[in-house]
Amino acid sequence: MNVFVTGGAGYIGSVCVEELLDAGHAVTVFDNLSEGHRSAVDGRATFVQGDFADRTLIHETLGRVRPEAVIHFAASALVGESMTNPSKYFRNNVASGVNLLDATVAAGVRKFVFSSTCATYGPPDRVPMDESLPQRPINPYGESKLMFEKVLGWYREIHGLQFVAFRYFNAAGAGRQFGEHHRVETHLIPNVLAVALGKKPHCEIFGTDYPTPDGTCIRDYIHIADLAQAHMLALDPSKSGFFNLGNGEGFSVRQVIDVCERVSGRKIPTIERPRRAGDPPRLVASAQKAFSELGWKPRFPKLEDIVSTAWNWHTRHPDGYPD
Ligand code: UDP
Repeated sequence: MNVFVTGGAGYIGSVCVEELLDAGHAVTVFDNLSEGHRSAVDGRATFVQGDFADRTLIHETLGRVRPEAVIHFAASALVGESMTNPSKYFRNNVASGVNLLDATVAAGVRKFVFSSTCATYGPPDRVPMDESLPQRPINPYGESKLMFEKVLGWYREIHGLQFVAFRYFNAAGAGRQFGEHHRVETHLIPNVLAVALGKKPHCEIFGTDYPTPDGTCIRDYIHIADLAQAHMLALDPSKSGFFNLGNGEGFSVRQVIDVCERVSGRKIPTIERPRRAGDPPRLVASAQKAFSELGWKPRFPKLEDIVSTAWNWHTRHPDGYPD
C-alpha cells in the first residue's frame, strides 16, 4: 500500500516506518522535526518536512501523494507538560489534527490509523482495562486524544472515513535501527538507563505514596515493534474501531528500576520526589480485543526483553541521534 505517516521521524513512528517498508509498502513521512529526528527516518521512505498546522501544505501534500492510508503518530505526548501548557495539547492534537483529517478526506483516503492513549481513560475502576471502561481523563494530554477520537467517530459517520484508533499503554524498547531519543527526556526507562550509562548521577521516583504495593505508579510497558505490528494489521480494510495495546502486566516504577539494574548490570541510585501532576496510580491493559479481532500477538511481552532492546540501543547511541 501507499502509506502516509505523520510523526514518522519520532520514536514509535520511526520503527513503524521501518516495518512498513520491510513489508513492501511505499511510505511518505510527514514530520515537523520538533520532536523527531531526520536521521530516524528510514532512507527508503520519502520525507516531507512540514506541520499540519499549515492547512494549505497538508492539503497540497496529501493531494499529491494520494495515499491509501494515513497513520497519524505526530502529537504532543507528555502528561506532565500538558498540565502546565494545555494550549499546546489542544492546538497540536486537536485543532491541527482536524486539518490533517480534512486533507485526508479531501484526498479520498480510505483508512486512518490513530495513535491514541490509555490516558483517555483516567484512573480506571478496574484493571486490566478493556475498551468498555468509561473515559474520564485527568490531564489535557488524555483529554486532547479523547477529543480527537470523538472527531474521528463523526468523520466516519459523516464522511465515511474508516479508522482504527489504538490506545497505547507505555511504549518502550527499541527496534533494530531506531530507538528512543527525546530532546528533553521525561520517560522512565530512558531516564533510568541514562543513569546506568553514567550520564546522570541518579534517577527520580515521582511519588512513593500511591495506593500500590510499593507506593510507586504501575504501568504496562509494551515494545514499540509490537505497537508497529498492530499498525500493519490495522491497514486491513476490514478492521476498524478502538483497541487497547499493552501486555496485560503492570510494573511499578521501582520494579522497572530493578529490571534496568539487572539488564545493565549497573547500580542505579534513586531519589524520591513528590508525585508528578496528572499521573494515575495504575494503568494496565487488557488487549483481548486486539488479540481476537486483529490477530495481534506481542513478540516481546517480557519487560526484561523490552529493557534489553532499549539498553542495547542506548549503549550503541549514547548521545541519541546526531540531529
Ligand atoms: N517516572 C518517574 N521518574 C522519571 C520518569 C517517570 O518516577 O524520571 C514515573 C512517572 O511519574 C509515571 C511512570 O514513571 O508514574 C511512567 O512515566 P512515563 O513518563 O515514562 O510515561 P507515562 O505513563 O507518563 O506516559
